[in-house]
Amino acid sequence: MSSFRDDGAAALEWVASYLERVREYPVLSTVEPGRIRAALPPAAPEAPEPFAALLRDLDEVLMPGITHWQSPRYFAYFATTGGEPGILAELLIAGLNQVGILWRASPALQELEEVTLDWLRQLLGLPDPLHGHIEDTASSGLVTALAAARAARPERRVVVCSEHTHSSTTKAARLLELELRTVPADGTHAMRPDLVDLSNACALVATVGTTSSAAVDPVSLLADMTAAEGVWLHVDAAYAGAAAVCPELRHHFAGWERADSIGVNPHKWLFTPMDCSAFFSRRPDDLRRAFSLVPEYLRVSEDVVSLSEYASPLGRRFRALKLWATLRCYGREGLQAILREHVRLAALFESWVRAEPGWTVCAPRHFSLVCFRRDGGDEENEALLRRVNDSGEVFLSHTRLDGHYVLRLAIGNARTAEEDVRLAWDVLRREAAAL
Ligand code: PLP
Repeated sequence: MSSFRDDGAAALEWVASYLERVREYPVLSTVEPGRIRAALPPAAPEAPEPFAALLRDLDEVLMPGITHWQSPRYFAYFATTGGEPGILAELLIAGLNQVGILWRASPALQELEEVTLDWLRQLLGLPDPLHGHIEDTASSGLVTALAAARAARPERRVVVCSEHTHSSTTKAARLLELELRTVPADGTHAMRPDLVDLSNACALVATVGTTSSAAVDPVSLLADMTAAEGVWLHVDAAYAGAAAVCPELRHHFAGWERADSIGVNPHKWLFTPMDCSAFFSRRPDDLRRAFSLVPEYLRVSEDVVSLSEYASPLGRRFRALKLWATLRCYGREGLQAILREHVRLAALFESWVRAEPGWTVCAPRHFSLVCFRRDGGDEENEALLRRVNDSGEVFLSHTRLDGHYVLRLAIGNARTAEEDVRLAWDVLRREAAAL
């Protein structure tokens, strides 16, 4: 292992220089399907290879197949940031290789996770007490929430959500053999409370920041309705939840403090490397009712409830360490500064679209996502997006709103500057003119 330090230094140097040069790559990978697989040996080597060989193949074989989520010119889906504190923490996490199957298997893992989630709760302006744990993804959090809701009201089999709810709710309902009841949205793409029917419902999933357009469901009204019926309210704030770190954006979250559970993804808009999804609940006992199963070999005398009793996995990664690193090294002020800049840049881009004849903003903008389209048909907008993404200069994605093909510019990379957003607008107008 004498080369461990040298290899480690080389790997860190690789990452540091990658992050410095990331703007130089085409943002969206240009490889054909199967090209990376074809360039790799079909079986593992017989003899050990040096780590340096792996770094060489990373450059030569894999890099063409990388879509650069770390690029400040990545504006697709929900843009993210693997921030430097979290990158370094991932090394420590693997170095320690904690397997948090129960408290005594890693007291530091469990207690740091509890404390870090409580820090995050405070940063988001959520009330005390709320039980927090970390899931890998918001999708897993949906399974956790709906399983707890079903266990709390086993006679009820319906999950209510809006037509714009993320597909992870549909998938969780399918896994748990619950029936989905979809509520139409209003002109702002938010769930219409007047059309909500809670009969036979065990859960309602409301979204703050929908995937298509970052619409905000009327959580306060929905909380009144679910409380009256004893229905579990889950608030999916996977993307937008981070915005609650800024008090001036908290009005979008009114009522979420009354939810039975809430999901917020630090791996989306809180500068934490994939994966880290925060799950908060007012009803930890109901989570345990659904998930606690302690086999003989894990029984201990300590009077501590292990985090594995609140969700499906037994073994936990030490994800809290990278969230801890992120919250400490950015600080509240650092997080707020970047989130505010993203919102400012999105507002600026929106103002350019509004001022330009032939372009339309297609949804209210609450956070750092702008939905817009060029006047003309769906095919034209689809062709425009293809040309923009083929240029490699920026990467945007699309959705469908009110029956139209709509372009989405999502700002979420901590390194995105005004010049990057300006470039996106220049490329869009250039390619639209060339169509
Ligand atoms: N919920 C919302 C609102 C989302 O936008 C997404 C993904 O974009 C998800 C859930 C799923 O997130 P994850 O990839 O963490 O499962």
